[in-house]
Amino acid sequence: MDVKVLLLGSGGREHALAWKLSQSPMLTQLLCGPGNPGTAKLGTNVALRADAPEEVAAFAKREAVDLVVVGPEAPLVAGVADALADAGIPCFGPVAAGARIEGSKAFAKEIMAEAGVPTAAFQTFTDMAAAEAYAVAQGRIVVKADGLAAGKGVIVAHDVEAARAAVRAVGAMGVAGQTMVLEELLEGEEVSAMALCDGERYAMLPLSQDHKRVGEGDTGPNTGGMGAYSPAPFLSAAQLAEVGERVVAPTLAVLRRRGIPFRGVLYAGLMLTRGGPKVLEFNARFGDPETQVLMMQLGEDLLPLLDACARGALVPRTLVSALGASVGVVLAARGYPDAPEKGQRIEGLDAVPPDATVFLAGAEARDGGVVTAGGRVLTVCARGEDLAQARERAYAAVATVRFEGMHFRRDIGARGMKAAP
Ligand code: AMP
Repeated sequence: MDVKVLLLGSGGREHALAWKLSQSPMLTQLLCGPGNPGTAKLGTNVALRADAPEEVAAFAKREAVDLVVVGPEAPLVAGVADALADAGIPCFGPVAAGARIEGSKAFAKEIMAEAGVPTAAFQTFTDMAAAEAYAVAQGRIVVKADGLAAGKGVIVAHDVEAARAAVRAVGAMGVAGQTMVLEELLEGEEVSAMALCDGERYAMLPLSQDHKRVGEGDTGPNTGGMGAYSPAPFLSAAQLAEVGERVVAPTLAVLRRRGIPFRGVLYAGLMLTRGGPKVLEFNARFGDPETQVLMMQLGEDLLPLLDACARGALVPRTLVSALGASVGVVLAARGYPDAPEKGQRIEGLDAVPPDATVFLAGAEARDGGVVTAGGRVLTVCARGEDLAQARERAYAAVATVRFEGMHFRRDIGARGMKAAP
């Protein structure tokens, strides 16, 4: 089968997806809209506004694209998959009604409740005094702004004073903070479980772990992710399969009952509590930077899997994993996550050893070289026989790359090392 693919997005995740897709014997042509300097080496970058549904559908039709793969959330929320469905073009990535599972915490919680998915107990408040009274009574609590504040609207409070302050801080966020969700504080290892879904059936990708805080030892402000590794050694194969049965399957069933065919990645952010895995959040797309390491760990052709999902014809099974482990270290720009500096020349990319792979993210081509153009500039990834070797290789490769103001975490994968037998 010959497949011409249009891949939407321009980050490190999309570079990694392009890298994996370009290894497929089924691929006839890879178009990346808009792509980045990394995807340009693997396919053809096309000037396209990825989150403009009609523009994407018209382009895909004109170019006789067989499959559209959507990387980021924004095009999904904008309805790119809906426009492609109308045009009769298979799309890996859910319709807008499905992407709401990521965009709205209230919707996600509603689906979880209906599906019986294990998650933190919660209550929603619009009255600040009532919220504060509840928070103070609970003491240990998580306060979340409902709506667009995303990760920044979440405060974890470990005592009464912190709980009171958290409610006031979220309340002061204005419109986004006016409705707030107060949630049971869960403790445990935080991991990412992703499933490739065809609307009904699914296949679990290996478990991975992201590192959200900017600083070593999980300190400092939250970021989009400073690195990842896979497999995260906190669940056995049987336990991961159970996550599929208890989280993914019932969620797909509830969405389907509501007339929402979820074809794409269902990403469950899990807290592995003493009482078992509980869902912290759902995303409707591949995680970034987890996808960079997942693409290195996936031991089989990605293209037929995504194609089958997009057509509603996935054969559910255990995916083939490469042996060993993969680690990805994000190199970030000075000022990230607040105000990243741009335009610094990236040196040493040609010197990266062959046992490592660089996926570009916030980077653009200039004067025959590559310069920084975003907060997370690139991810240096490596696979090894085990986590220790993967880390050694990744950090050896990091040492060859430099740009003014570059910073990164030296402890990516450290939690997995501690847990490894
Ligand atoms: P969210 O945007 O809901 O994923 O929350 C952002 C971060 O806050 C998560 O990645 C967790 O580290 C933390 N968090 C969210 N909900 C909880 C909870 N119920 N208990 C403990 N930590 C939480």
